[in-house]
Amino acid sequence: MRERGRKSGSAVGPGLYSAAASVLAGLERREGALKTLVYGSRFQNPRLLCALVSETLRYSPVLDSILEAAGLLRAEKKLQPHLAKVLVYDLLFGKGLRGGGHGKVLVLKHRARLQAELARLKVQKKVSHNEDLLPPMAAGGAGQAPRVPRYVRVNTLKTCVSDVVDYFKRQGYSYLGKAASLEDVSSLSGKKFLLDPHLPELLIFAPQTDLHENQLYAAGHIILQDKASCLPAFLLNPLPGSHIIDACAAPGNKTSQLAAILKNKGQIFAFDLDAKRLATMSTMLVRAGATCYQLAHQDFLATDPADPKYSSVRYILLDPSCSGSGMVSRVPVEEENANLPERLQALSRFQRKMLAHALKFPALQRLVYSTCSVHQEENEDVVLDVLQQWGKEFRLAEVLPSWSQRGLATCAKAKCFLRASPKETLTNGFFVAVLERQPAGASGPSSSQEFSQTVSEVGADPCLPLKKKRKKPET
Ligand code: SAM
Repeated sequence: MRERGRKSGSAVGPGLYSAAASVLAGLERREGALKTLVYGSRFQNPRLLCALVSETLRYSPVLDSILEAAGLLRAEKKLQPHLAKVLVYDLLFGKGLRGGGHGKVLVLKHRARLQAELARLKVQKKVSHNEDLLPPMAAGGAGQAPRVPRYVRVNTLKTCVSDVVDYFKRQGYSYLGKAASLEDVSSLSGKKFLLDPHLPELLIFAPQTDLHENQLYAAGHIILQDKASCLPAFLLNPLPGSHIIDACAAPGNKTSQLAAILKNKGQIFAFDLDAKRLATMSTMLVRAGATCYQLAHQDFLATDPADPKYSSVRYILLDPSCSGSGMVSRVPVEEENANLPERLQALSRFQRKMLAHALKFPALQRLVYSTCSVHQEENEDVVLDVLQQWGKEFRLAEVLPSWSQRGLATCAKAKCFLRASPKETLTNGFFVAVLERQPAGASGPSSSQEFSQTVSEVGADPCLPLKKKRKKPET
């Protein structure tokens, strides 16, 4: 049997299995990406934990059918399902169970039955190796989506791009300059890196690059953030000194990016309903050197747009909860697919409410709506519907013309939307729309000539120094 990431006979260390079970549960609740949760767990050996969770995920469908056939969870009602999955992975496909814990005792009672179910599955599938049980994608077969590179956002509150480039050169990496094409990015390998062609503060490394233990990451000089998720704050492009609402802010990568764009001058009112995510966010913002924010453990829908506190809010970033269907590292949850239409309807209702509420803020000039979903119901449909019903004073801006993937062709105003995907943009799946208040007296559908100078220009040549653009008056 193959063992990844673990030396034979090495100590498991206290709490490995329960830490792995917590990470699996966090992934299912979409609390963050795999590595974020692993490093957030504070488990003493994050590499070991990451390897165990990744392998358990890879074998997830196989483990589900073995657990079901062996009736383990029915027999052991006290055994937590995520813990059972990790333990059974290690028993059948890993190094064999080591360490203590009550869960291990419960699983070992069923060892013979579990092994028999694995053998039965192999006979049924007519395979002789465990790896041959894996679905083609998990086994790394043909048809796999391209691997998303490691994107690194330079935190300009603490450093600058040239210093970070120099640092990585000193660490033995080769800097290849600004990427000229997607091929430049998809062919990155080893210790080479590029500057992103759209976002001037984003560096691109090969997919397997792990910088979670890098000192620049630990010091908040770099933020590990997917390129698509950098687009909302970049396109909101607030002027330093502005007041902004980040309506669904935790765990806060976009808030810290907004603080960097503001150069810590101004005010970000950041809301979130989830106390645990807000606590993580608070630590992250301190590490990033952000100071211009107020965190509120509060329902954004309960905010009063007429409150004088928000009378200068000209920008809103709305990145609401969504199905997460665009996230490459997400754990697929079977029941989700079964109930997908109902889930999408419920999410879409919530997203519409949030967007309609955001448009009520009296001084609002520009709003960015984003999701990490690939579903039209959560994206184009939400924006077009809300604009039609509640947003007569607003219109869509056609941003970032050099971005290849636009909204779904079957939708109105498709060219005004940005979509992102592993295949077309080498990022996670994502959706972004930029809404702007129409100048007084303007009405009717938007056309590219009518779009605001500021946003269109950011999109037209995002690699120009931003300072130059900001000299122009805002709409
Ligand atoms: N913008 C975040 C970032 O870049 O790190 C990610 C936000 S995540 C997609 C959505 C967040 O919305 C979750 O943290 C969730 O707790 C929060 N949320 C859901 N409903 C909310 C509400 N009514 N008011 C405020 N936050 C809410």
